[in-house]
Amino acid sequence: MTKTGIGFDFHKLEKGNGFKLGGVFIPSEYKTIAHSDGDVVLHALTDAIFGLCGSSGDIGDHFPASDPKYKDIDSTYFATEALKELQTKGYRLTSIDVVIVLQRPNLSVWKKEIKENLRRLLNLTSDDVGVKAKTTEETGVIGRQEGVCAFVVATGETSDIYKR
Ligand code: MG
Repeated sequence: MTKTGIGFDFHKLEKGNGFKLGGVFIPSEYKTIAHSDGDVVLHALTDAIFGLCGSSGDIGDHFPASDPKYKDIDSTYFATEALKELQTKGYRLTSIDVVIVLQRPNLSVWKKEIKENLRRLLNLTSDDVGVKAKTTEETGVIGRQEGVCAFVVATGETSDIYKR
């Protein structure tokens, strides 16, 4: 049985030295405002995985921003924990597709590294990881460099031996 999950995340930007996307540090004159490391790709991925396996909660339920334990944490932790729940439920992640929406910097030079990092983290082949970058053509919150967001679709499968 094939299943799909979707995740979205947005963080505001403020003056800084850079921020992480998909676990890769992107130098910038901005940084994300967040309790954790503010990686919108890994946050959207975490929710996509939770959605895929019908988790009882989203990233905010599992890892409350009010919990000091998650202050400045590497968001790889969230995705790894979501993967554990996925596996416990008898699912296997088979592919992900990512869209990052950011005005600057141009991510064309970073997309390969982000893809490779996600591929390694999720133990997928490079054909099973899509990473795309878009801008909003200088308009709106993202166009004014006030924020960055990401969408992730995760696909997985389960064996009927494990389910029902
Ligand atoms: Mg977030």
